[in-house]
Amino acid sequence: MSGPNPYKLAKQHVERVGKMMGLDEGVIDVLKTPRRELTVNFPVRMDDGSLRVFEGYRVQHSSVRGPCKGGIRYTPGITLDDVRALAMWMTWKCAVIGIPFGGAYGGVACDVKKLSKSELERVTRRFASEISIIIGPHEDIPAPDVYTDSQTMAWFMDTYSMNVGHCVPGVVTGKPIQIGGSQGREEASSRSVMYVVQEACKAKKLDIHGATVAVQGFGTVGWHVARLLQQEAGCTVVAVSDSSGGIYDSKGLFPARVQEYKKNGGSVVGYPGSKQISNGELLELGVDILVPAALETVITKDNAKRIKAKIVAEGANGPTTPEADEILFKKGILVIPDILANAGGVTVSYFEWVQDLQFFFWNVDEIRERLRSIMVNAFGVVNALANAEKVDLRTAAYMLALGEVARALELRGIYP
Ligand code: NAD
Repeated sequence: MSGPNPYKLAKQHVERVGKMMGLDEGVIDVLKTPRRELTVNFPVRMDDGSLRVFEGYRVQHSSVRGPCKGGIRYTPGITLDDVRALAMWMTWKCAVIGIPFGGAYGGVACDVKKLSKSELERVTRRFASEISIIIGPHEDIPAPDVYTDSQTMAWFMDTYSMNVGHCVPGVVTGKPIQIGGSQGREEASSRSVMYVVQEACKAKKLDIHGATVAVQGFGTVGWHVARLLQQEAGCTVVAVSDSSGGIYDSKGLFPARVQEYKKNGGSVVGYPGSKQISNGELLELGVDILVPAALETVITKDNAKRIKAKIVAEGANGPTTPEADEILFKKGILVIPDILANAGGVTVSYFEWVQDLQFFFWNVDEIRERLRSIMVNAFGVVNALANAEKVDLRTAAYMLALGEVARALELRGIYP
């Protein structure tokens, strides 16, 4: 990740909120320290016959409330600290929405754009084998994240199943439907963003119909957010972007057509009728709703003053730094934090895991209704706490999450 060290930021949040809540210092130490970390270096045979060593990580932050759960990302610059932060955020996310998981994360340092499909498969299978000593359907359940997808999870599940000698669909989530995936998983994080934005608009007395939206990132999360906000919530999506840059149209874009265009050309940039803008400009547009859905630490003390949106809904994990948070709060901008806004991904992953363990599958309407009910309830609880304590939604969400994990720790006791 670029910018400030996200693990440092993740720990700062825990220290600040833990102290505010009067938690014991030893408990704060437990909460901000990952339980288990595994670094693996493994060789992969490349298509040209050469051997290349890849470095990968799996960090399990907490299993106090249940098995560990969290994504796997393939990015060139990934570090152990990035993975530690992401693992910790997963713990809080699961606690905020009340699902019985702890947090984990993993990743491999590689550039997927420079690997062939067969190289990617060998990287995935070897990485899955390397970390299989700590993952399993009752220990730690990976899922897709940046530059990994349902195919990655299919290879992962197959590798684990081959190693144990029988089919174990519950070892990963985000799989294709045909091998134990859940209906509605791919759009789940984005759908939860839509549900909390709808609730936030009610809280801010902002009419969501026709509200203008800018979305940074047009990958799994960003594209579905843009699509759902436009098609189901009735918003006008005026800007979207990807790693090549952004596009703007004051009359509104049709996300489905932009997606079609990106599929053919590889980027949203150049979409007919749109004006090209930079990723930085997108964040500062005068829109009602801003959804950062690409990278960490993109809203910092340097650009927070210029953010004009009324609501910032964090589709990405960790897009706002603590200094920026303060500035946005003072400006009256409602930031719906990542650990609440994009929690639909892990919620439907939880549904997938439950379905896999029972070998009994639900239909898409059941998935969406259960997800909606969890998200609306979680937003209500966090918003009420924020109002009662006169704090921002992130602080309230952390208070709720830290309280849940600390209480679980107290109930279980410290072993031995
Ligand atoms: P993805 O790989 O599908 O998409 C990432 C998008 O970001 C791509 O459009 C890419 O072009 C864009 N991007 C990359 N560099 C950029 C840059 N410098 N500026 C602007 N855009 C850039 O990843 P994703 O799964 O959509 O994840 C995006 C974010 O959402 C991450 O923070 C991830 O942790 C978080 N998230 C993902 C899930 C999930 O289920 N996939 C769930 C919760 C949270």
